[in-house]
Amino acid sequence: MQPNELDDLYREVILDHYRTRRNSQRLPDAQVEAHGNNPFCGDEVFLQLRLNRDGTIQEIGNQGQGCSISQASSSLMSDALKGRTLEEAGALRELFRRMLAGEQLSDAETEMLGELEALQGVRQFPVRIKCALLAWSVLEDGVKEYRGL
Ligand code: ZN
Repeated sequence: MQPNELDDLYREVILDHYRTRRNSQRLPDAQVEAHGNNPFCGDEVFLQLRLNRDGTIQEIGNQGQGCSISQASSSLMSDALKGRTLEEAGALRELFRRMLAGEQLSDAETEMLGELEALQGVRQFPVRIKCALLAWSVLEDGVKEYRGL
C-alpha cells in the first residue's frame, strides 16, 4: 500500500468513529467514572467503566464533545478496552502514548494497538497529541480514583 492510501484509510477510520461513536451509552452503575477536558481545543470526554467480578472491563460508556481527533480517540479507546483488565488498559495507554511520541514499536506491539494505530498520523501535529491523549488521561484519572490513589 502507498503511504497516501494508508493515510486515507486511517482518516476513514477516524471519521467513522467521530461520526458514529461506539459505546456512547451512559452507564449509571459504573464503578469507574471520570471526566476531563482539553482547554486548548475545547475537547471534553466523559467515561464510565463497569467491571466484571474478575476485574475485566465488561462495559464502557464514553461521551463528549470537541474535535474529531479527541472524540474518535475516545470511541476507538472504548472499543479497545472491552474485556481487558485495568492493568492491561494501562499497558495499552502506555503503548498508545509511545506511538504518539514517535517511538518505534515492535510488530507485536503494533498488533496489540489494533485499530488505535489509525491515530498515529497525529504525531505529526504536536498540538493535536493532547486531543488524542485526552480520553486516555481521563481513563487514568478514573482508575486512580477507583483504586483510591
Ligand atoms: Zn482537540
